[in-house]
Parts: sequence; structure tokens; C-alpha cells
Amino acid sequence: MDIQNNFFSLTQPLCVREALSGQVIYAAPEDRPVLQQLPDYSVFAVFETLPNDLELFLGLVTAEQVAVHPDRILVDLLPKPAPSPLEPDTPVAVAKRRLEVERVGALPVLDEDGRFVGAVTLLSLLEASVARESLLSREGRHLLARCREEHQRLVDHTSHLRDFQNASKQLLQTVVYTHAEREVVQHGIEMLSRLIGARYGAVALLDEKGGIEDFVYAGLGSEAADRIGRLPEGKGLLSLAVLGKTGTLRLEDMAEHPRAVGFPQGHPPMRSLVAALIEHQGECYGRVYLCDRLDETPFSAEDEALVKEFATTLAVAVKNSREQERQREGEMQLKIAAEVFSQSAEAILVTDADTRILMVNQTLTTITGYRSEELVGKTPQIFSSGHHDKAFYRRMWRSLHENGQWEGEIWNRRKNGSEYPEWLHISALTDDDGQVSHYVAVFSDLSRLSVRQKGMERLARFDYLTDLPNRLVFHAELRHAMLRTRFNGKYTALMMLDLDRFKTVNDTLGHQVGDQLLQQVAKRLRHCLRQRQAPRMGDVVARLSGDEFTIILNDLTSREDAETVARKILSRLQAPFVLGELKRSVTASIGIALYPDANTETLDDLITHADQAMYHAKQAGHNGYRFFDSQVHAQGKRRLMLENELYNALDREEFELYYQPQVAAQSGQVIGLEALLRWRHPEHGLVSPGEFIPILEKTGLMIPVGEWILRTACAQYRNTVRALGAREGEVTMAVNLSVHQLTPRLPGLINALLEESRLAPHWLKLELTESAAMGDPEGSMRIFGNLKKLGLEICIDDFGTGYSSLSYLRRLPIANLKIDRSFIADMTWDSEDRTIVNTLITLAHNLGLKVIAEGVETKAQYALLREYGCEVMQGFLFGRPVALSQLKPLCFAASPD
Ligand code: C2E
Ligand code: CA
Ligand code: CA
Repeated sequence: MDIQNNFFSLTQPLCVREALSGQVIYAAPEDRPVLQQLPDYSVFAVFETLPNDLELFLGLVTAEQVAVHPDRILVDLLPKPAPSPLEPDTPVAVAKRRLEVERVGALPVLDEDGRFVGAVTLLSLLEASVARESLLSREGRHLLARCREEHQRLVDHTSHLRDFQNASKQLLQTVVYTHAEREVVQHGIEMLSRLIGARYGAVALLDEKGGIEDFVYAGLGSEAADRIGRLPEGKGLLSLAVLGKTGTLRLEDMAEHPRAVGFPQGHPPMRSLVAALIEHQGECYGRVYLCDRLDETPFSAEDEALVKEFATTLAVAVKNSREQERQREGEMQLKIAAEVFSQSAEAILVTDADTRILMVNQTLTTITGYRSEELVGKTPQIFSSGHHDKAFYRRMWRSLHENGQWEGEIWNRRKNGSEYPEWLHISALTDDDGQVSHYVAVFSDLSRLSVRQKGMERLARFDYLTDLPNRLVFHAELRHAMLRTRFNGKYTALMMLDLDRFKTVNDTLGHQVGDQLLQQVAKRLRHCLRQRQAPRMGDVVARLSGDEFTIILNDLTSREDAETVARKILSRLQAPFVLGELKRSVTASIGIALYPDANTETLDDLITHADQAMYHAKQAGHNGYRFFDSQVHAQGKRRLMLENELYNALDREEFELYYQPQVAAQSGQVIGLEALLRWRHPEHGLVSPGEFIPILEKTGLMIPVGEWILRTACAQYRNTVRALGAREGEVTMAVNLSVHQLTPRLPGLINALLEESRLAPHWLKLELTESAAMGDPEGSMRIFGNLKKLGLEICIDDFGTGYSSLSYLRRLPIANLKIDRSFIADMTWDSEDRTIVNTLITLAHNLGLKVIAEGVETKAQYALLREYGCEVMQGFLFGRPVALSQLKPLCFAASPD
């Protein structure tokens, strides 16, 4: 505008009164001008009509402002704050300066009284100035011509702007009607190219990572567009235009640019370029660029500004379109989720981060019996059954924290109090910051699985033959058990049990009988263990293959616990199995490995160790158990210690006899006592006979100790009778004999002892285990015969656990059978044991033998045994073994009720 500046300095001062615009339109504040019908350089003078019909001038609105916001009414377009008006005699140069500095299109001219005189615009100022000057010089006329050009440019610009605003508006509207981002962009680039008059336009859309997602062209047929090869990424001018970080780029001749490397293959050759970022609120969606104006002129700064502004509009449009798409997807997902939620056959529960229940589905209310209103706001603890310990929940939470989910079987309680197992899956949902926002729990009621489903499930988890858990479940249980010991400080024992000589059974009696035997063994094993009240509690017995069973004992406090169970199992297995017509006893070998243990790290270690121990048990002769070596070692150490101590125990008078009453079933009278050996070790206290008697037997100490027992029992007989308040001969004294004492000199020894204490022989009874009696049948037959000649009664102890041959039993000079404790223990709930006991009693009676039942602990056992005709009973129900000094008169009520 140098010309103009020169010009203004040349002229005489000219006032704005003489340079008012001729295009002022008087309008009311609420008017919405229809711009198309008015000259582009119009100025709206906005007046408010006051009640007294006076008109109050409010301000000016230019056509340019209207073009930007074509929908607004004039009062909204008034500049705020309103520019201060010019006085009529303000010099034109001052007015022009103000127009430029304040960047307004027009300024009002008011008189002294504040009345509206008119408005000046840059154009009106120029025209007036030029008009006056043109009268004076040729130069003036020339200037006027230039001024008209300038004016025209301004007009063009305004109309351009108007078109542009319309285009933008349209573009934003297309977003409303079209969902696809690509359509919006296509529409946009076509409009922009048309507006600017470009031959070719393109938009490169970027994906979230800044890579090119899509190219949209205008001015090219789709065929031509398809022919364009890939952009040389990161290189060349187009890459710069497409991927460059610069806001805008405008070039007259691309070939002259330092980065010009030509166009991609198939790209039409082009010369000029204008490019801009499609950017809004710091988010970049891509680049737009136009090439070559149709009129061959280069792109102007205005074009560049338009492209830039249009790119911003496009950014808004793309953003809206993407948001709408996301929203639609979100809505759809919500709809699907809502459907899944309500229709699911599985129960679903959603809580907030504090585990407060937010919502539950229909299935959940059906399973638990709670209504939704009763649950919302509560925590899932409402379902707690109390079956699981703290460690269980700790592990659950740890898994949730670490992996975001947990899955497992859990016992919960319904509203009506009943408990049920459910298969539960919990996942933690996190928000954008990674914080847990919700927990979603999905579960199915395992107790309600359809029969078919249950059947399938059983097949997958249980052994078809024995119905015991299979290897799969066993592994899971063992893993769980091992984990558990880390939290509760107790032991888990793993037992490998292998039936001895099972192959022979299979081979000689056939597989069907073998199968039957396995089924019964499984049943007995199950009875030997603690019943499961809830999953993961109690013990587990599983069948791994053939005759190989495995047992997991949970929550043991010591190694001895495992020993006790092993012994129990071995003794239980020895009772004959009824296989159709046949009866058959089996024995087994058991290997035991404990966990935790210094030598055991993994689950496989534990299994291997139990296997090794089982192998050792087999080698040591069948029908026994062995601990894994490290325990054998420890056990050996204690055994060695006890052995050393036992050598002196007799001299140090550490042995005692305890006495346990035997009661007549019909009268409830005490009719006998059993003498039981006790070793009171000065440091270890009372040592169990189960532990030291085998050592006595092994070391040969049983002979002197056995003699001491017999002598002491005889010597104390009268005192025990007195303590019971009975008379001599009313009570018998039973003494246990070890197989090692069964020597030819035994009858002589006993005879001497009886004479020594002046006891009638029939007051003494001898108890000998079934297996001891059968060890050397001919030998024991002779000894027994001699003992019987002396007038002593002999009782077969622990009957039912050995292999008695009936014909032999018939020939033995014995008087009593003592049914083993293990049968009595289970007979009230195990019908098979009941049958055995009943049969044994009948059998004994047929042989003319009296029956004693040992280990009677309950009135129910007492009642049953009496019903079966058992004559004598012994057990905790009537009295525990006690020292002589503790023995008291007692009569158990004849009636068990
Ligand atoms: P046993 O001859 O079968 O002795 C009976 C065992 O059952 C005793 O265990 C007794 O305390 C226990 N008992 C009695 N009533 C009940 C009951 O109601 N419930 C339960 N659970 N147990 C009951 P103890 O005294 O520990 O003796 C264990 C074994 O040691 C005896 O089994 C016997 O084989 C051997 N033993 C004990 N004393 C002698 C002895 O003086 N000489 C020999 N050779 N062996 C002995
Ligand atoms: Ca006994
Ligand atoms: Ca016994």
C-alpha cells in the first residue's frame, strides 16, 4: 500500500464527512440480512427504535462479519466493545489509521449530539481521496484505477469468504448426515478445490500413530487416483506436504524446492502447491493440499489462509465424525453388553472398586435367592459361606492384583442359608489411568448343572471305575495342597499306594473280579480319610492307573499323623474283600513323602519322592509303608535313640502296665481287664507301644520284657480286682503276647508265674494277633495245646486283618475272637463293615468261640454289637486304659440307651 501512503501524504487534509460510504444500509437489531442480494461492501448501521420513536444508533456491522456468521442477527455481530465514533471533521488519514489499527471494516461518524451521520470504510476513504486528487493530476487518475482494483479484490475476498463460510457450514452438516469419515473428507476436499479454483486437491488422513491411513482426492478420477503409487515415505516434497510438521506450505513452482524429487509414479505433474495441517485443539488428523489453479495463477496468501481455515473446519468435521462413530460403536457395544448381561445363563455381578455391588443380573437373583435391591450397595461378603480361610481370599486378591483376574471353585451361601459350590471368574476392570474401577464376577452354580453336564464333567475329572478323582484333578489338588502349606505352616503328605500282587488277582480271577476289588479298595481308602466338607478341605484319594492309588493328606501337624493314616489304611485293607462268591484279602505298599521338605521343591519332586518311598516299601517286604529317604533318616535316628534307651528301660523300671476294662454285653458288668504296656521315658514321656514294641521285637528285648509283663500282670491281679470292687475269679486278666514269646518254654514260664502268685489258670487269658498265630501254624498249635492243658484261655487278637484259614482256626485250641478295632470304628455308617462284623460273629459262634469287640466308642456301636450277639466289649465307651492306681469300680449300665 505504498501508493496509498504516498498519496495521503500528498493531499490536503480531507475530512471523513466528505468520505462517507454510499453503501450504508439502515437495519434493526434483530435483522438477519440476506447477504447475497446486497453489495459485498455494504455496511449495516444498526438502530434501535425507542418508545418515543427516536432511533438510537447501536453500531456498525460489515458485510465481512455477516459472511462469517450468516445465521446470526445483526445485534450479535456488533463489535464489542463498540469502537469510538469519528467526528465529522476528523481527517481521513486519522480515520484510515484507526481502521487499520483497530482492524475493523467500518467506523461510524457521529455529530456533536451523538446523531448518526454516516460510516467510513477503507474503500470510501480511498475513493473520496482519489476522487479529489484525480481532478488534479494524471497520477491521481492512475491511482483511482488501482484503487478500484483494490476494491474489487476486497469484494472478491468478501464473496470468497462468504462462499467459504457456506462451504464450511455444508461440510459440518454432512457430518450429521453421513457417518463415514471418508465421505466427509471427500466432500470437503471437493468443496475446497472448487472454492479456491484448484485443479487437484488431496487429503492425507493420518491414523492415531501418525501413519497415513487414507488418501482422498479431488480433481482426479478414481482410476487415475488408483494409479498413483506409494508416497516415498519421509522423502520428497509431497511427503513434506503430507507428513511435514509445518503448518502450511505455499509454493509457486514445486520443481524449484530443494526437496523436490518428483511425484510418485502415476501422479499427474503439477506446479504450484498450497498445503495445510488438518488440525484442531492440538490434534492432527492429516494434511490437505491443493495443486495448480485452474487460471494458472499461483496460490495467494488469501488462498493459503483459506486452506488453513478450511483444514481446521475439516479437522472439526473429522473429529466429530470419528467421535460419532465411536459413540455409535460404544452404544452398540452397550446394547450388546446389556443383552448379554440380562440373557446370560451365568450369574453376573458388577461392583465398584470398593467391591460395593452396582448391579446383578436375573440369573444371579435366581441362584442366590436375593432380589437385586437387596444386593445393590452391599459387598459380595453377603454370600460368604465361611468355608474358605483367609489365605484363600488372600490368594484370590493377589491374583486379582497381579493378573487382573481369578478363577476357581468357591462355596457360597444362598439367602435361604443353603450352601452351594460355584465356578467363579472375577476380572478387574481398569480405567485409563490403570486404576481398578470395577470388578465383574461371573459364576455358574455347580450344584445345578444338568445331570448330563455333571456326567460329562465327572468323566473329565473322575475315574470311571472307582469314581475317584483322576490324575488331572489329583495334580490340581496336590498343587493346591502344597501351596496351602506355605500359608498355614502345616504338612501335606503324599502317599503312593500300590496293591501287592494285584496282578495275580487279575490273572487268576479275571479282570472283572480285579475291577471289583479296585472299586472296593477305593471305597475303603475313602473311608480311611477325612471326609470332604468343602472343596480343598480334608483329604483326597485318587486313582492314577491300574492298582496305583495316591492320597493327599492335608493339614498334618507332624510326620506321625501320616504314619497313623498309613497304618490305618494297611490294617483296613487286610480285612477280606467279598468278591462275588470269593473272599480275598489284599495288602498294599505305601510310600510317603512330606511337604514342605528341604529336598522337595516342585510338585514333580514330591511325586517322585513318594514313588521312591513306595518302591522301598515294596522291597522291604509287602504290606508296609516307608517314608521318603530323608524322613526314613530322621525316623531312623529316633528309632536308634529309642532302641538305645530301651536296653536300660527294664532296669530303670520305666515300664508300667495300664489296664482297660472288658464288659459283658448283656449285664454291663466288668468281667475282665486287658493289660497294656506303657513306657514312661524320663524325657520323652509316654512312648506309644506302636512305636517301641516293634523295636523290642526286633532287638530280642521282647523276651525279657514279655516276661516282665506276664509277671507284673500276675502280681498285680489281686490289686486290680480289689480296685474294681470285685471278687477274685470274677475278673479275668488278658495279656498280649508277641509272636517272639511264642516259644516252647512259654507254657513252663507261665505255669511258674501262676504258681508264684497263686493264681488259678483260667483267670489269665493270652491275646495273640491273627498273623502271629498263623506265622508257624504247626508250632503254635503245639504251644497252644500245652497252654490249654494248663487251663489258660487263648484269644485271637485283631481278628479280620490277617489271612486266617477257617479249617485251621477250627483246629486251634482257642476260646475267643477279638474283632479288630477298624471294623468296629466304621460299622455304624458303613454297611459293608456291618456285614463283616455280623458275619464274623456268626462264624465265631459256629466255631464255638466267644466274641470280643474292641474299640467300642459309641452307644450305637454297642447297640449293634449286642444285637449281633457279641458277648464282650472293650473300648473308650467303657473306659480307657489306666494305671492301676486309677482303676475304679464300675458297672456300665446294661442298656445302651
Ligand atoms: P491291641 O492289643 O489291639 O490293644 C488295644 C489297643 O487299642 C490299645 O492301644 C488301646 O489303648 C486301644 N484302644 C482301646 N479301646 C479303644 C477305643 O475305644 N478306641 C481306640 N481308638 N483305641 C482303643 P495301645 O495301648 O496303644 O496298644 C497298641 C498295641 O500295642 C496293642 O494293640 C498291642 O498290639 C501292642 N501292645 C500293647 N501292650 C502290649 C503288651 O503288653 N505286649 C505286647 N506284646 N503288645 C502290646
Ligand atoms: Ca490286645
Ligand atoms: Ca486289638
